[in-house]
Amino acid sequence: MTDLALARVKMVGMPINSTPSVSVYEVSPRDGLQNEAVVVPTDVKVELISRLIAAGVKDIEVTSFVRPSWIPQLADASEVVARLPHTDGVNFWGLIPNRRGLDRAIDGGLTHVATFMSASETHNQKNLNRTQRETLSAQREVIESAKAEDLVVRAYISTVFGCPYEGAVSIERTTQLAKQLSDAGADIIVLSDTIGTGNPNQVTEVVRSVTEAGIPLERLALHMHDTRGTAIPNIVAGLQAGIRTFDGSVGGVGGCPYAPGAAGNAASEDLVHVLESIGWDTGVDMSAIADAGAFLSAELKRELPKRLNRYHTESRSFVESCSA
Ligand code: MG
Repeated sequence: MTDLALARVKMVGMPINSTPSVSVYEVSPRDGLQNEAVVVPTDVKVELISRLIAAGVKDIEVTSFVRPSWIPQLADASEVVARLPHTDGVNFWGLIPNRRGLDRAIDGGLTHVATFMSASETHNQKNLNRTQRETLSAQREVIESAKAEDLVVRAYISTVFGCPYEGAVSIERTTQLAKQLSDAGADIIVLSDTIGTGNPNQVTEVVRSVTEAGIPLERLALHMHDTRGTAIPNIVAGLQAGIRTFDGSVGGVGGCPYAPGAAGNAASEDLVHVLESIGWDTGVDMSAIADAGAFLSAELKRELPKRLNRYHTESRSFVESCSA
């Protein structure tokens, strides 16, 4: 690739070759459902996962191994994992809060796990009942144990772009944590906008700071929330900054019980639509992912917050529906 072409990729994030690709990491079975008041049957979760695979999603966060009494919605974690429709090329990820969670994930045969902590002290304490220092210390051990078992580890950093309790979060703090988690052995660092308060300039600045600290772009991912309609603009800013993995949740389901006002993950349908429309291959079939979202919407018995309607995936209906 020429210097000019490289500069174009770096500055604009636009594809050079015909089919550059990005990855969509699907969080609906875990992050999407964990805030739902009504417990979703295991059958429905397994069916949702099957539909996501059929749509072409390669990375799916299927559950969380938190203590069942913390999040009753995910009390069936081991059963979901036992019933996973294993498919070549598809990675199933389990969220693990601690060593016990890691053991349960390994017992279930998972090879991909995710840890989580917050960039802000107060959110970390509300979410994990521990200080950041205590959490980081415990996570170092968990990540080292996971790597000793050859697992792939992604480490979420929540509240990177703002905290519901503290407001602004310093980029330096996020960068320091990202470096510490990376040094502990985490393969992927997930910069997360837990309450959807970030803006595209912040995304650019945080990504620049973290990469300047030595973490390469291919080891970063973005997890954005659409509380204020900024998930997609922020994702495009991330794409332009060189990020190639984005978290999505079909229908846009999922908030955070410890982040008041946080509404909706970035909807996978919206994410796939926008990325594909500007020339990136997500490997995900638009119609099939919309169907997965429609399935979940029917099971939850409500409209989900995604922007892209099933109707919009059928151009004929869309054209007919617009009179002016
Ligand atoms: Mg989320």
